Amino acid sequence: MTPTAAPKPRPERRNEDFAALDQAHALHPWQHFQGMAREVPLVITEGQGCMVTDTTGRSYLDAVGGVWCTNIGLGRREMAEAIGAQALKLAYANPFVDVTNDPAALLAARLAELAPGDLNRVHFTTGGSTAVDTAVRMVSYYHHARGNPGKTDIVSRENSYHGSTYLSQSVGKRNGDRIEEFRYKTEGIHHLSCPNPYRRPAHLTEAQFCDELVAEFEALIARVGADRIGGFIAEPIQASGGIIIPPEGYLKRMWQLCQRHDILFIADEVVTGFGRIGHWFASLAEFGVQPDMITCAKGLTSGYIPLGALIFSDRIYQAMSQGPSGWFTSGYTYSGHPVACAAGLKNIEIMEREGLLPHAAKVGSYFETRLQALSHLPLVGDVRGRKLMLCVENVADKATKALLPDEANESKRISNACEEMGLLVRPIGHLNVMSPPLTITEGQVDFVVETLERAIARVTDDLV
Ligand code: PLP
Repeated sequence: MTPTAAPKPRPERRNEDFAALDQAHALHPWQHFQGMAREVPLVITEGQGCMVTDTTGRSYLDAVGGVWCTNIGLGRREMAEAIGAQALKLAYANPFVDVTNDPAALLAARLAELAPGDLNRVHFTTGGSTAVDTAVRMVSYYHHARGNPGKTDIVSRENSYHGSTYLSQSVGKRNGDRIEEFRYKTEGIHHLSCPNPYRRPAHLTEAQFCDELVAEFEALIARVGADRIGGFIAEPIQASGGIIIPPEGYLKRMWQLCQRHDILFIADEVVTGFGRIGHWFASLAEFGVQPDMITCAKGLTSGYIPLGALIFSDRIYQAMSQGPSGWFTSGYTYSGHPVACAAGLKNIEIMEREGLLPHAAKVGSYFETRLQALSHLPLVGDVRGRKLMLCVENVADKATKALLPDEANESKRISNACEEMGLLVRPIGHLNVMSPPLTITEGQVDFVVETLERAIARVTDDLV
């Protein structure tokens, strides 16, 4: 057949067609090939505050907040205007070597103000994964610059999620990750136990469990050698791994071990940053840890436009700049993108002006209390979380904490039932997870909890 330059005909689309087009042509992040989780994908077309609307005009309260990211809420004219104005003024500038742009310089300075301690240096990326990827490589670069080229191993934890580039996903470890198919990097990456108090060995108190976790890290350092371990990466609260709030004192003790052995502490605050639990960053404010690096994204622009950042210490910058190689060869075409940075600046301004951090802390405490009331339900094994990062864990047996068989698919059925009643919650494994915009009101929290309760009751009835 002779190739033709004529464009393919493009019929006019009706709203209902988007789902069919998606199914015919798109591959989603975490798509399941044995059928999508639903018959027809949900196609969202509009959003305002905590609410989103689909192609049929149905509205939902999005208690997932996009994917933990729509912190200031959707549909803000001020954000659209800041983005539009910057796109007209300067839509792009080369960020490499010695060129920058004014929003990138301003946002770097702003992040240095907000980050704890001497975290005064910012390397912009395209999202959370690329921030983590750079952090891991910076660990090697830093130790190399200081004359310790062998200090390149990274310590992470089971059930952590640090993104989806080759390196960030190798460092993370979630149940169900396709280790064999993707051939992740395993050499030089160590995974410690997940600090999940709910799933701790039954014979241990939470304090003893914490001691064991710290001892496990100490034993790893002794076995592998402090001369080989360069960095430790941790989400202060593991997000996708199941809203895991570690035992009291755990993070601080892990950090102290890092300090003792010259291991850089990377706090992955892609989810916990920008107000999700009431602080700009949770590490120091909530857990008493001064990290060497913080990775952030999501709430940095509240999802209005992609942007990530690695914020790191003056100490690291100085060591790297005095190292033998001269070049730091890492960065992206869209690092410090002027439009994304303008969105970041406006986002921070709105959070400050509207007091969204104290609001998140207050309404988050209310949410925690309200959600705890679901603990009595027979299907609910655990209700946990902090402020606006919460979940319910479903079990078959509350006493033994045994899970239902995967085929029961109960968390997806609960989220489907919620959806029918106008609420979006996220099913992850046997959990239903919530991370709404920080602007959520107590009235909306009541709706979320009451709807979730009805959905759980409905699915429980179907299970028996
Ligand atoms: N780190 C954490 C803790 C995350 O939850 C995520 C995404 O959910 C990432 C990193 C990756 O961020 P992104 O999807 O923006 O690359």
